[in-house]
Amino acid sequence: MTSKEYYWKNRKKLLADQKTARRKRRTIVLDFYGGKCYCCSEILYEFLGIDHINGGGTKHRKLVGANLDRWIIRNNFPPGFRVLCHNCNLSLGMYGYCPHIGIPQGGDDSPKVV
Ligand SMILES: [Zn+2]
Ligand SMILES: [Zn+2]
Repeated sequence: MTSKEYYWKNRKKLLADQKTARRKRRTIVLDFYGGKCYCCSEILYEFLGIDHINGGGTKHRKLVGANLDRWIIRNNFPPGFRVLCHNCNLSLGMYGYCPHIGIPQGGDDSPKVV
């Protein structure tokens, strides 16, 4: 049996294994960086993600692709990352602040509370 045949025969199991392995890596990495959202202390892993503290996330993400967790483990958990939930991450990325911490006041381009 070629490896391709093997793959198609066991595709379901292989994909499931991959998923399990991915989740495991994710849990390990999230645990290492605190296991909860740096901003709002969210602890549900389904909502959490790894964030680059000093930006540069997009560039780095392009480099390591979707395998950031694997990259972090391989590189021995380098500093410069933190855990953020998707709400806080999105808000910080989109507005530059998170309303959990406070909405910046003053200035023309400060967001208006509607
Ligand atoms: Zn949060
Ligand atoms: Zn927040």
